[in-house]
Amino acid sequence: QDPPRTSGGGNAQLTVLAGPTAVGKGTVAAEIRERFPDIWISVSATTRKPRHNEVHGVHYLFVSDEEFDRMIADGELLEWAVVHKAARYGTPKQPVLDKLAEGRPALLEIDLQGARQVRETMPKAQFVFLAPPSWDELVRRLVGRGTETAEERERRLETATLELAAEKEFDVTIVNASVREAADQLVKLIRSPHIPGKS
Ligand code: 5GP
Repeated sequence: QDPPRTSGGGNAQLTVLAGPTAVGKGTVAAEIRERFPDIWISVSATTRKPRHNEVHGVHYLFVSDEEFDRMIADGELLEWAVVHKAARYGTPKQPVLDKLAEGRPALLEIDLQGARQVRETMPKAQFVFLAPPSWDELVRRLVGRGTETAEERERRLETATLELAAEKEFDVTIVNASVREAADQLVKLIRSPHIPGKS
């Protein structure tokens, strides 16, 4: 029998949410931020430019390439990746460790490459895959969002094909048919982790 699962030395659980582009990870995270403020959600650093209505320190830490290089060099990132061949994104490490040490459940909303790195460094974390109801729905959401150029969209869809195949690497899947229901399911998992064969 494995010992009780903990993460980062504290007595709380780290949950990693990943899934293909435009599946609604950010929307589900925003819903949790609003309705379940006891759950702490990591704020990633990124070299991408802010979209209108994105706030530094709330949605992301928008940093320069030089600053991102420095964060890597100083070992400040738990994981980082180039996403959609466009920009770098990374999770600042210390805030995650602090929250877990405080006993506060923590959530990372990151891409698949990042999730794989966290699996190496924080093997006791819970890995949740957010899946679209269908491929057509995923394309519809990406187009409907209207935040990417046609070229960027193509690139993201290429990535999404690979990302969908990664579902089997995860502990549990949530289908994002309704944001509210997906958020409710995720919160349940955060509070009571489901890790097949390990819990
Ligand atoms: P967006 O540019 O649409 O906000 O995010 C693009 C992608 O970057 C999403 O798939 C999102 O999950 C991912 N992402 C956001 N923050 C991080 C992070 O800290 N690390 C990694 N690896 N991916 C991230």
